[in-house]
Amino acid sequence: MDRILIAGGGPVGLFAALRLTGFGIPVTLVEKAGAVSDDLRSSTIHPPTLEMMNPYGISGQILARGIKVPQWQIRNHATGEKVVFDLGLIADETDYPFRVQFEQSKICRIMDAMLRDHPLADLRYNTELLSVDQDENGVAIKVAGDGGEDALRGGFLVAADGGGSTIRDQLGLPFEGSMYPERTVLVTTPFPFHDHIEGLSSVSYCWAEGGNFSLLQLPGQWRASLYFPEELSAEDVLAPARIERQLQDICPAPEPYEIHDSRVYRVHQRIVPKYDHGRIVLAGDAAHLNSPSGGMGMNGGLHDAHNLTEKINLAWQGGNHGALFDLYSRQRKPIAEEQIIKQADQNRKRMTEKDPGKRRQSLDEMRAIAEDPVKCKAFLMKSSMFEGLAQAARIT
Ligand SMILES: Cc1cc2nc3c(=O)[nH]c(=O)nc-3n(C[C@H](O)[C@H](O)[C@H](O)COP(=O)(O)OP(=O)(O)OC[C@H]3O[C@@H](n4cnc5c(N)ncnc54)[C@H](O)[C@@H]3O)c2cc1C
Repeated sequence: MDRILIAGGGPVGLFAALRLTGFGIPVTLVEKAGAVSDDLRSSTIHPPTLEMMNPYGISGQILARGIKVPQWQIRNHATGEKVVFDLGLIADETDYPFRVQFEQSKICRIMDAMLRDHPLADLRYNTELLSVDQDENGVAIKVAGDGGEDALRGGFLVAADGGGSTIRDQLGLPFEGSMYPERTVLVTTPFPFHDHIEGLSSVSYCWAEGGNFSLLQLPGQWRASLYFPEELSAEDVLAPARIERQLQDICPAPEPYEIHDSRVYRVHQRIVPKYDHGRIVLAGDAAHLNSPSGGMGMNGGLHDAHNLTEKINLAWQGGNHGALFDLYSRQRKPIAEEQIIKQADQNRKRMTEKDPGKRRQSLDEMRAIAEDPVKCKAFLMKSSMFEGLAQAARIT
């Protein structure tokens, strides 16, 4: 057992590689793409994730380039009524009482650069894992890369190969759950919404007439999530004229909106029955998927990587890997189910509600929480993902 294998060079695989090499453990990471993905995906980093990344110097780089968001809001766009949540209330719990808005691709690039210079890291892009096998001493994988097919061997395999995980399929694991009916269109634009919409926060979840949208600020641009009628094709929903109309409805602008990027996606909520399978362990999207509402998917995957690498380090030093990986699964799976998937689903339900009476009730309930410091602190500890980590730590 001379190394750990990692499949997937997304945020979870890269963070696992960084943690393991930090413990002095050699890793080989295989990633089928030629480089870090530029896809527009996660944009929010929660406080505990910043805490976990700080020892590696990543949080400092994120803070230097990202946007600190101490307050976020739920608003009724038509009336301008809003409830604002202030993370200042958890300032006695963390050095990072804010979210940071910063693109997933940039976090990955920071980690990729650190690993490229690391003597214990063997990063192989353009290398796809094809199959996996394990015995009592290790894991063997077949990969296809620039030089053709190859076989690699390691003590354990971290399956961080994302929502369409090959390893999950190879293990024959069900990925139970469902797909949400609506599609989301993500659009980025340099239009300065904050200069035009009174009292907008850098993270704003909004009800509109007959629908909803969210506006999240990123360095130099805003990311708008827009929802469309089901009957439209993917081509129709991405039609520039339709996106323009929708953005003009949100905020009338004298000039047509400049669009940097637009993409349509569907959202699933799914989870595997358990994360540990002998010497192969799943983490991140390979193990669970949730609605992006609340920005917890990537963060939760990074928390998986943090927990799992602690166990791999102990197993590397001679600990019982079966017991350690079982504990990882028992600690992290309930958090994905009870905290991440459930909260994201509640957030989505709240914002997709169209009935004005129910929206009113929901806004009143959220306001009652925001105005009560004790309730609000508890709510923020949960939505900032501290509660899930505390719950996991209680599982032994
Ligand atoms: C539109 C959108 C918005 C989102 N917003 C947020 C947000 O604000 N906050 C948040 O926390 N999360 C958000 N998420 C979720 C977040 O993007 C994912 O949870 C995160 O990417 C999971 O990371 P991962 O490393 O597990 O998987 P991925 O990022 O999917 O990485 C998996 C990697 O494995 C590689 N791979 C796959 N198969 C193989 C193979 N056979 N061999 C080798 N390599 C392979 C892939 O190429 C990929 O690079 C969002 C997701 C979407 C789609």
